[in-house]
Amino acid sequence: MQSPSHELGPPHEAMFLILPYLHLFELLSITQVCKSFRDALHHDILPWLNIVVDKPLNSRFSDDFLVKIMAKAKGRLRIIAMKNCFRITNDGLLQVITSNPHINKLYLQGCTSLTIEGVIGAVKLLTKANHRLKILAISGIYNVKIEDFQTLCHLMGINQMQMKNRKKNYYNTRCELYAFKQESDQPSIDVDICPKCGEIREVFDCPRNSCNTRIQQQRQQQNQVLMECRGCFLCVPRCEECGVCTKDDELGEAACTDILCLNCWLQLPKCSFCNKAYCNQHAYQQSLYPGGFLCSYCSFHATQSS
Ligand SMILES: [Zn+2]
Ligand SMILES: [Zn+2]
Ligand SMILES: [Zn+2]
Ligand SMILES: [Zn+2]
Ligand SMILES: [Zn+2]
Repeated sequence: MQSPSHELGPPHEAMFLILPYLHLFELLSITQVCKSFRDALHHDILPWLNIVVDKPLNSRFSDDFLVKIMAKAKGRLRIIAMKNCFRITNDGLLQVITSNPHINKLYLQGCTSLTIEGVIGAVKLLTKANHRLKILAISGIYNVKIEDFQTLCHLMGINQMQMKNRKKNYYNTRCELYAFKQESDQPSIDVDICPKCGEIREVFDCPRNSCNTRIQQQRQQQNQVLMECRGCFLCVPRCEECGVCTKDDELGEAACTDILCLNCWLQLPKCSFCNKAYCNQHAYQQSLYPGGFLCSYCSFHATQSS
């Protein structure tokens, strides 16, 4: 790579348009490209108003780091999305929320060191004085009771009707919660009371046509709606690729620990040895093999025996 010469002026204006769309690790990498980028980012507050922490930074993301990064928004932070940042504690979160009262979207999925008491404390601060918290995501946080869920809904102004009419939530698109640029008028929370086990978890709908028809028929007949395949990930096993329920179906053999319905399995490439398929998320575990690939299990045994 060419080293930037000292005659270079400030970065192209287009760069500033892109910055607010980047994840934190991308922003931090840009600050290390050259002095002019670093200075530009140091003086620009806009990229730091929406902070998304995902892989690969999540496992190292600590309270100290959180407070330091969030300080760059100078109190004007709008969105915090931290996924699986299991080192973040109530203290770190509250510190950031206290100094950034305008946050309106808070994603904390899988931040397992947070407690529900900490989350409720944060939401109380963010719904003070008519401020609206539009989105809250807390799936993966332990020991959330029905009362806690109701408290959160009450604070955010979510009523039962809104919960009922909300957009369908499909298992295979669960990660797209990060489409946080999308605006919605209704406040929303990512968890619900699972109709099967009664726990507060993320509850998924079924994208399978025949399941939807059945649910609609039940509704029309005013039967008590059974919604057999609506439920949390523990109650209703689902295909990793397409999200359909897979209870009584024949399954395809997966090389990862995920479930694959037969339809999806047929379409995915398979290990040349054992004929198992990887879901797309784990396809990186394939090792090259003439005419195809080997799954990690077969490739390990191939190296052992050669
Ligand atoms: Zn359940
Ligand atoms: Zn499938
Ligand atoms: Zn179903
Ligand atoms: Zn294999
Ligand atoms: Zn998988």
